[in-house]
Amino acid sequence: MAARAVERRLNADASDHVGPTFPCRCGKTARYAGRRPKTFTTVLGEMTLLRAYYYCDDCATGFCPRDRALGMEGASLSPAVTRMVGLSAAMVSFQESAELMGELAGVPVAAKQVERTAEALGREIAQDEQTVVEPQPPSAPTLYLGMDGTGVPMRASELVGRQGKQPDGSSKTREVKLVTVWTAEGRDDEGMPVRDPGSVTYSAAIESAATRDTDAAPSDFAQRVNREARRRGFDQARRRVVLGDGAPWIWNLADEQFPGAIQVVDLFHAKGHLWDVAKAIYGAGSDLGEQWAKQRRDELDEGKIDSVLAALRVHAEHNDEARKCLDYVTRNQNRMRYPQFREQGVCTSTGVVEAGCKTAIGTRLKRSGMHWTVPGADAITALRCCKLSGRFEDFWERRSAAETGASR
Ligand SMILES: [Zn+2]
Repeated sequence: MAARAVERRLNADASDHVGPTFPCRCGKTARYAGRRPKTFTTVLGEMTLLRAYYYCDDCATGFCPRDRALGMEGASLSPAVTRMVGLSAAMVSFQESAELMGELAGVPVAAKQVERTAEALGREIAQDEQTVVEPQPPSAPTLYLGMDGTGVPMRASELVGRQGKQPDGSSKTREVKLVTVWTAEGRDDEGMPVRDPGSVTYSAAIESAATRDTDAAPSDFAQRVNREARRRGFDQARRRVVLGDGAPWIWNLADEQFPGAIQVVDLFHAKGHLWDVAKAIYGAGSDLGEQWAKQRRDELDEGKIDSVLAALRVHAEHNDEARKCLDYVTRNQNRMRYPQFREQGVCTSTGVVEAGCKTAIGTRLKRSGMHWTVPGADAITALRCCKLSGRFEDFWERRSAAETGASR
């Protein structure tokens, strides 16, 4: 009934017929060609609206000035419904989002339409993220920046000719690279720094982190990291800490973008590697293996890197995992000075970076049965990072302002 009432009211208002002509975007003049109906999905339900329609012979395009004014040009969902769809699809699958729209808002939107709408919105957000960088002062004396990558399952067509980790050398995933910025001024019972709730922001995409010497500009991911760092005032912070696992691209990028920042191998990752070695040597679930791993982890905590290296060397010759880990610890030992970091009050073992990959990417994009295209994965990643970073409202305001501006 509310929908019918609003529909009647809107349709009674013919003020969008402003005369026989209307300026077209091409610069020429479009002429009035009657009122045209279109059915929109709104928070009140379906509404069929009659709008003044103008047609431009020069560019052979027709348009309705009212659709532009309402931000509904080319869309069949009202802005409020689009917003709801965007927010829900940032959090749950398209199918679940469609169900929530029906159950919570009483607005039927098909899963396919949720997908189209959310991906279009995600593309807008990704574009907006690249163009709008409003630097903030650092929110704490120490800022943390983490980088990580995680594989997202792809449609077969997206993987043709790509090398991967499958036994036949093919690949099932593409790597989404993530940058996370946070603060950790709070302390736990033992006085160790803990991540400040609500301080985490994310930015991610399937893009390259490798900048060749011959490239004029840094890699796409390096530029993303740089934008996020400026947004958070990371580059201005009194103390800057870069966390990551041992992957060389992370440290190359850190050297390149943030010289002088403290580099820390996430203790969570380091311990995980040692655990893998123990399993490879002693088999899963073995007491000996557990004991071995515990000893190495204590040595790491106590800063006895030489002991860790010695223990790995014993197995390196006949065990692949041990050899790889030996390389890893050797390469990264300066980033594994944990007692020193603790003394400086630097957060080392939060798993924030690891959790970031799960929270920002895995929970939404790596669910069973999901297979993405690159543009689809990037759009939903952008949408989700925007939402989780508390930036959706700002984006929506900019979007609404742009729509209103465009219609004038
Ligand atoms: Zn035109």
